[in-house]
Amino acid sequence: MTFHDAIVIGGGVVGSAIAFGLARQGLKVTVLDGEDVAVRASRGNAGVVWVQGKGYGRPEYQLWTRRSAEDWPNLAAELLDNTGLNVRLEKRGGVVPYFSEEGRDKRKALMEQLRTEAGNAGFEYDMLDHQELARLVPGLGPKVLGASYTAYDGQVNPLNLLRALHAALLRLGGHYVSNARVATIEAAPHAFTVRTGPKTVTAPKLILAAGLGTVALASSLGLSVPLIPQRGQTLITERVDQTLPLPIQGGIRQTHEGTFQLGGTAEFTGFDDRTTTHGLCKGVRFALDCLPYLAGVKVVRAWAALRVMSPDEFPIYEQSAEFPGAFVATCHSGITLAAAHAYRLAKYVALGDLPAEVACFTTRRFDGE
Ligand SMILES: Cc1cc2nc3c(=O)[nH]c(=O)nc-3n(C[C@H](O)[C@H](O)[C@H](O)COP(=O)(O)OP(=O)(O)OC[C@H]3O[C@@H](n4cnc5c(N)ncnc54)[C@H](O)[C@@H]3O)c2cc1C
Repeated sequence: MTFHDAIVIGGGVVGSAIAFGLARQGLKVTVLDGEDVAVRASRGNAGVVWVQGKGYGRPEYQLWTRRSAEDWPNLAAELLDNTGLNVRLEKRGGVVPYFSEEGRDKRKALMEQLRTEAGNAGFEYDMLDHQELARLVPGLGPKVLGASYTAYDGQVNPLNLLRALHAALLRLGGHYVSNARVATIEAAPHAFTVRTGPKTVTAPKLILAAGLGTVALASSLGLSVPLIPQRGQTLITERVDQTLPLPIQGGIRQTHEGTFQLGGTAEFTGFDDRTTTHGLCKGVRFALDCLPYLAGVKVVRAWAALRVMSPDEFPIYEQSAEFPGAFVATCHSGITLAAAHAYRLAKYVALGDLPAEVACFTTRRFDGE
């Protein structure tokens, strides 16, 4: 039997960011993660740190996301210092294109909504016409009339991020155990025991951050966590010269290595994570409308992965009322929120209380639905 300060179930980017955050505060942490065949959004996402468009009708989410984006340079620097791994954070903003005057009006109205809801925090954005956008995005297609732009957005290498979080956790004395699928949790207030194979770990804190696997385990903690898989299909091109300096929402970014990552459907197909010709073509059509020169670039691979979606698309953070010391943490923008999870949420979990900043993200908001 091993005694630690905290057990984190789930070694995706959400569990790993929280585990790293707990370890940097001196807690002894064990991460128990599933198998290679497990559903893992953290290994199939688009790597965008995205603020623009987050939190319509829920200003707390806009602020949470923005604080994370602001903290991201510190996270990238700390991970580089601690592990030598460069997560390749680029913060040059991001754009959401529109293709009609009506699309422009809708986009502007949404940006204004975010500005109004941000209140004193403000929300800076620009509406760019075709020419202004073409100066930022060389090779822009004629169908694109313009875009909204915010400087808050950026991108990282999400696989490097996951690797760096694991490496940083280990350097701080934490443990990461793979092939350690948890079937049951023995819970009592501030006393949790988890057995996986020959390993038994006991701790006064437990963080359930198992992505879509959270649903099955939450009831052991007296919680009901409604999550739905949402499929996103992705294409990767061959490496080409750098031409695209910032991500285009709708699914176009150029990675640090030169490949283009295209696509990103949003489909509710249960746990079916296969690609479809229809889904991949949708991503290609959008990419060619925005950047026609991509017609000359070869596609080298494709995949689909499942987003971890709550009914209203906002995160779920909650401490169990029945078993204090147990927390659940899940969201559909784990890359964007990695800094908030490592620096803020981990601090709150260590203190044992989720304060006003995140209080609106409990499952109580679904009561009566
Ligand atoms: C196509 C696509 C594009 C995306 N693009 C972006 C983006 O650009 N920016 C952004 O911010 N976010 C993006 N996301 C979302 C982001 O990837 C997720 O929010 C994030 O990866 C969720 O991380 P997670 O750790 O909660 O879940 P996962 O990555 O799914 O990890 C869950 C982990 O828990 C483990 N697990 C499950 N059950 C158990 C169990 N019983 N015992 C032990 N371990 C268990 C699994 O093995 C897995 O490793 C995208 C997602 C997809 C699918």
